[in-house]
Amino acid sequence: MAPLRISFLIRSVYDLLPSNANLVRWGKKDDPTCPLYQGRQTTEHVLSSCKVVLSQGRYPWRHNRVLQGLACVISTAKGEIHPSSTSSTVFTTEVESKNGTEGRSQ
Ligand SMILES: [Zn+2]
Repeated sequence: MAPLRISFLIRSVYDLLPSNANLVRWGKKDDPTCPLYQGRQTTEHVLSSCKVVLSQGRYPWRHNRVLQGLACVISTAKGEIHPSSTSSTVFTTEVESKNGTEGRSQ
């Protein structure tokens, strides 16, 4: 695992990421509220419980993107997909998502 990912993981477990609540606690900011939802923006709030993000379906989108990336890595390792086709698959999905066509049959 890349060092930055390990750092993120450890800081998220120990609530040491720069959420607005932590920035207030560290004297770096005055307002601990979420800019999307007027609740206190903690690490948990950012990663899994923001009501606005939940209502917009962003968490399932992020979840599916992570699984898609893992599937590409596993398929590439198994020799099922050539590595150069992986990036085009991800790019195509990103374009489809931005155009609102993700999940539709074409
Ligand atoms: Zn929020």
